[in-house]
Amino acid sequence: MNVLSKVKDVTEVFRRSGIEEPGREAEMLVTGLLEIDRATLYAGDVDMPEDRAKYIDGLAERRTRGEPLQYLTGHVLFCGLKINVGSGVLIPRPETELLVEEAIRLIRQKGTGPLTILDLCTGSGCIALALARHFPDATVYGVDASEHALEYATRNAAANNIHNAEFRRGDLWDPVNGMSFDCVVSNPPYVVRDEIETLQKEVRDHEPFAALDGGVDGLDFYKRIFREAPAYLREDGIIILEAGFGQADAIRELAQLTGFKQYDFIKDFAGIERIFTAKL
Ligand code: GLN
Repeated sequence: MNVLSKVKDVTEVFRRSGIEEPGREAEMLVTGLLEIDRATLYAGDVDMPEDRAKYIDGLAERRTRGEPLQYLTGHVLFCGLKINVGSGVLIPRPETELLVEEAIRLIRQKGTGPLTILDLCTGSGCIALALARHFPDATVYGVDASEHALEYATRNAAANNIHNAEFRRGDLWDPVNGMSFDCVVSNPPYVVRDEIETLQKEVRDHEPFAALDGGVDGLDFYKRIFREAPAYLREDGIIILEAGFGQADAIRELAQLTGFKQYDFIKDFAGIERIFTAKL
């Protein structure tokens, strides 16, 4: 069967089941699975065996029942890295690439050299690995409570040939107790607990609750991060955090109470204050 006609079939299946961008998702499912690019797809001369076509039909059906596309293709592109994902690990979001960009900009101001960077709640390892790739002389530690997530992170390091990232399992700061860092980054769980049930079904029913749940006010992790941050940051250390919609004021207040002097928010594509940066 021709790959392009498969994309058309899947688009139709997606359209009928009410998926918002049926054409784009069908294209991503097929190209993601066959690991071909769009140009190759639209050149129109790629065939696929019948069993492959059947396999794609099965995945398309799972997609119509609400599984996230990225779990079906098994990977996403994040800051140019191929990050493997699946059930049990949060799918990296485009906003989080802004965190990486901002971290790169601020870390660069420190100059290169053997810096030590920490990524709390690392999940798939996407942030830690993007920074490790960008700063080959740095050592990047990624911490997460989930063993399963860390299996992905470790696999992602190997798949991208990155050797300056180390992953440790445990509760927030515990695994790096006594260490100090030039830069701490985190995209912690920050969704208000009662709002989780209002999220899209792809997120609510399939992504790990623990990666989303920020407690009753969504701020549990920020409070714990700020409480300990001064003990773990070196002089001139930087902290960079992703925040949820409407959380900027609360985070500024936590930063001020902690004694941070210079802090700022970067807005995302939608104009939401999304990336918090601060120096002690
Ligand atoms: N950005 C994610 C969402 O909106 C939440 C991830 C997080 O809690 N860090 O689904």
